[in-house]
Amino acid sequence: MTVTVRFAPSPTGRLHAGNIRTAIINALFARKAGGTFILRLDDTDKERSTEAFARGIEEDIAWLGIEWSEKVRQSDRLARYDAAVEKLKEMGRLYPAYETPEELELKRKRQLARGKPPVYDRAALELTDEDKAALEAEGRKPHWRFKLEPRDVVWEDLVRGRQHVDAGSLSDPVLIRGDGTFLYTLPSVVDDIDLGVTHVIRGEDHVANTAPQIQLFEALSAKAPDFGHHNLLVGAEGQALSKRDKSLSIQGMREEGLEPLAVVSYAATIGTSDPIAPHDSLDVLAEAFDFGKLSRAPARFDPHELGLLNAKLLHTLPFSAVADRLAELGVTGGEAFWDAVRGNLEVLKDAKDWWTVVTGPIEPVIDDPDFCAAAVELLPLEPWDEETWGTWTGAVKAETGAKGKALFQPLRLALTGQPHGPELKQLLPLIGRERALKRLRGEAA
Ligand code: GLU
Repeated sequence: MTVTVRFAPSPTGRLHAGNIRTAIINALFARKAGGTFILRLDDTDKERSTEAFARGIEEDIAWLGIEWSEKVRQSDRLARYDAAVEKLKEMGRLYPAYETPEELELKRKRQLARGKPPVYDRAALELTDEDKAALEAEGRKPHWRFKLEPRDVVWEDLVRGRQHVDAGSLSDPVLIRGDGTFLYTLPSVVDDIDLGVTHVIRGEDHVANTAPQIQLFEALSAKAPDFGHHNLLVGAEGQALSKRDKSLSIQGMREEGLEPLAVVSYAATIGTSDPIAPHDSLDVLAEAFDFGKLSRAPARFDPHELGLLNAKLLHTLPFSAVADRLAELGVTGGEAFWDAVRGNLEVLKDAKDWWTVVTGPIEPVIDDPDFCAAAVELLPLEPWDEETWGTWTGAVKAETGAKGKALFQPLRLALTGQPHGPELKQLLPLIGRERALKRLRGEAA
């Protein structure tokens, strides 16, 4: 079977950690199976969907390195939904109902007060044509409900295992609002049928939609796809996540300078039995992907942990993987510079600060001018390599008697202006003799 999945965000905002996890799980599953990944923009909510959000979502997914083979928009497909509506009406599976939200609320309260489940009582099914005409004459507009068949719906969830839902215990879902617009339930099923979606993989918050949707697939004479509902995200302390939190938006992560591969690696491994670790590519992550590894408990999303993973990833990246982006940052130190500093970076753009430390000008910090003067006298002539630091500090130690921190720290402060940083045996040849001499004498260089 060829696998076809879709990622179906609504363009009513930018992507955040929660929904990219859905995108990544879909992408990895499709990649592993050699299948197809479709991007579907669920933009039937005209009020809240915008073109700018749609473009932003595409940008976010592309930045993560996820490619889609096809893009569809629900707003282009309304005629298909209308056709499905006609079919359902003819079959008697779609019926008009006229209750206002207040009336429905009152019914619910009464049922709860009587200790009954708050399920829609199907009063609308009893309406005669005259009743309906009278309600419409009052100015009421119908919403349309899908008549569920009162039977057990069973599916083998890819994550949750076998699921049973007694459809007789559910309210008939509203498919069309009073203003004629579609809720998500029906368009999603029509699209999944037309696009040949084989696996619907989405968050656990959609579990309750599945039984009605399976009945919709069947009513529309289609075989329902497989379903998988993955665990949702909570914060580091188990708290609910706020979509407004900038550190959770892909745009925010990007602006912060995080590596897309770190974000993907993190999102793909939290809430699974695999260790959280940086991976080299989507292919490597896809190879390891397995629904059986997803935990049923919520996955913890901790921006701090993501930052650490990002640093870990940078520390392993070869120069070739970052050369273009370093050039964009104006960092032209080549491979020797990258190898010297990558272990000290939290985000790639930190490389720029170390490049300034190499090329200057920086303000050296001179704690002991006499010591630095002695070091100046012993500074070897160029050419320099990674041995130079050892040769030089050996000579300074012999001359001054300083050793350990007392030997290295004043030299680091003078040469870099910083108490910590990359290994000096690698930085020194990049700084070069001329600048090193000036800095050891306390001059900005
Ligand atoms: N637009 C829906 C969402 O963003 C899609 C749900 C689904 O995948 O079926 O939650």
